[in-house]
Amino acid sequence: MKVPFATLEHVHGPLREEMKNAFLRVYDKGTFIQGEECSLFENEFAEFCKSEHAVGVASGLDALALALRALGVSKSDEVILPSNTFVATALAVSMIGAKVVLVDPDPLTYNMTAESFEEAITPRTKAVIPVHLYGQAAEIEEIVDVARRYGIRVVEDCAQAHGALYRGKHVGTFGDIGCFSFYPGKNLGALGDGGATITDDEALAERMRELANYGSKVKYHHVEKGMNSRLDELQAALLRVKLRCLDEHIADRQRAAAVYLENIRNDRVTLPVVGSERNHVWHIFAVRCSRRDELKRHLEEAGVGVNCHYPITIADQQAYVEDGLVATPLARRLASEELSLPLYVGMTDDELRYVIDTINEFE
Ligand SMILES: *Cc1c(COP(=O)(O)O)cnc(C)c1O
Repeated sequence: MKVPFATLEHVHGPLREEMKNAFLRVYDKGTFIQGEECSLFENEFAEFCKSEHAVGVASGLDALALALRALGVSKSDEVILPSNTFVATALAVSMIGAKVVLVDPDPLTYNMTAESFEEAITPRTKAVIPVHLYGQAAEIEEIVDVARRYGIRVVEDCAQAHGALYRGKHVGTFGDIGCFSFYPGKNLGALGDGGATITDDEALAERMRELANYGSKVKYHHVEKGMNSRLDELQAALLRVKLRCLDEHIADRQRAAAVYLENIRNDRVTLPVVGSERNHVWHIFAVRCSRRDELKRHLEEAGVGVNCHYPITIADQQAYVEDGLVATPLARRLASEELSLPLYVGMTDDELRYVIDTINEFE
């Protein structure tokens, strides 16, 4: 049997006609940038997250960079983020010339804690980027409390966590700005790159919209040196179709994850833990194993697709050598022990059973 690491077959198959109609609607209308579809998607996505405003942008990385810029983060400011996140979280900080400060995550949930964040604060700390990694909320309310005490701005990296909740409230709505990616493989994915920021602050939303549009609100009047980062009409129209199914898709991921959690039984394999007062939308089902590379080979030889998120920490990346960052101990350990199991919408009981049996046989 073969089980892919991920497939969009069961998401896109049933939506084929609707997606085609969305495409044709945009194609026939002939507006491809800054039209009605993007505004409608922004309203619908803000409503989904229970936020006041959403701004569609070109990618998750741009969303983070625009959020930092809109909050006034600039050169020589320090920005704290978890050392085990995807490199884009750090790249956004580097893009605007600020300094990356890495902290170790919680060993159970793999997310930044309020404690590790507070320990890393210096007089130069301007912002913090908690990441809701793998699809589970960090202890975001506690992190925001610490940030408010020190006058530090909070940008939430929600790229893996559309629909994730902490104490019943959507991630992205706790801090100043929430940032999302619609990369095709994310839980809500476009058919190309895309992203969005959400905020309750109208002035911040306007500022990000302007920065993403060459620093301009009125055509050919540029009040700031902005960039070009917009969510195009085609992606917005396609995302509107998929957004309507997002809750159903999250529930299906949760179904598959529950089967894993209940049936994987191998002392060599550490299962993920869901922290209290939150759900998990299972963008990634991350297990740990001290003999990770052997387990990876064992699964791949049996036809099971797996992945590592992420095999090299940010501090250990060649791109970051010049920054002189130090990899925190747990992040390094996760880099060598983490293994992501197949998890996608429409995974069958047979597929789940096969992955489970293959893991349980590993000795
Ligand atoms: C995917 C991802 C990003 C970047 O999003 P893109 O749309 O690919 O630019 C940022 N942070 C995290 C945690 C991600 O997983």
